[in-house]
Amino acid sequence: MQSTSAFLDSLRPAGSKRSGKRDLIVNVFLRQEGHLTADDLYDLIRKEDQKISRATVYRTLQWMEEAGIARKVDFGEGRFRFEHSYRHPRHFHLICKTCNRSFEFLSSDIEALLEEVASARNFTPRQSILQIHGTCEACRTGRAPAVEGGTTELLFARDALRIAIATERSGLEFYSRAARLTKDARGRRVFERLSDEEQEHLGKLEARYKELLAQDPLLESRPTFLFFKGAANGLFAAGAEQLAKGVDDRQALMIGIRCERASHRFFKRYGDRFEDSEGKQIFLEFATEEREHLELLIREYRALVERQRRRPGGRRKTRPEQPTA
Ligand SMILES: [Zn+2]
Ligand SMILES: [Zn+2]
Repeated sequence: MQSTSAFLDSLRPAGSKRSGKRDLIVNVFLRQEGHLTADDLYDLIRKEDQKISRATVYRTLQWMEEAGIARKVDFGEGRFRFEHSYRHPRHFHLICKTCNRSFEFLSSDIEALLEEVASARNFTPRQSILQIHGTCEACRTGRAPAVEGGTTELLFARDALRIAIATERSGLEFYSRAARLTKDARGRRVFERLSDEEQEHLGKLEARYKELLAQDPLLESRPTFLFFKGAANGLFAAGAEQLAKGVDDRQALMIGIRCERASHRFFKRYGDRFEDSEGKQIFLEFATEEREHLELLIREYRALVERQRRRPGGRRKTRPEQPTA
């Protein structure tokens, strides 16, 4: 991960001098989580340096917005708030009207829907703002919030990993079942190999998950950030069910191809859309692995069809379905 100061240096024209005041303001801003008003930031700055004026803080905020470090948000309070945009994934907000706190979430189903609407109306979207206004649990029940907060980047990485792990688990289940069912020796070896690979990847993802937890002991119990309706049970769950109904070797390969293709597209599509973050990286790495599995299965499918065709009394009369990546 790029350090903040390296990031700031990259924004500065070559040879230009570091501005001490500006760096201080930016660093204080980046240390905060959540959504600050300009005055909140000014109060924080004053604790560190009494000589910095309100005007300097305002100017720097404006500069940060232009430089892509800060994002302006309007929660309908009659003044703007600012949040990080550097390595901070785009998201939506829940806003409590009682305590004025806001909570971030991202739903890829909502994003996909917004895209669909815009494209159906030939509209080029620049920004979509979704806010849920209401009362948070703490304000409603009068109890202190159990666990909240945490950095959005960590929550995002945690949720991206959870989805990848669920997918690996369902893939593992799928391939070990397919290996048990497949009669063709070579086809069986392919499923066994993929099942071993899924097992190995699963181990790696789980180790990465543990590393994340080590950065924040409360991470597991913090609220969900990233919502995915369709993917939570693992993208191979439906395929594993289909196998249970009884299929032949070719059909088993074809179901594997469909699952891998859906999985590759899913991780690629959302990974491309996320802003630079560990969550994005997890999705894109996973998309690449799924693509490799997809290509392997397609090769095997073609080889199997060829073997069955050559076999004396080969049972194929109709032209088999041709898979493509
Ligand atoms: Zn509240
Ligand atoms: Zn936010």
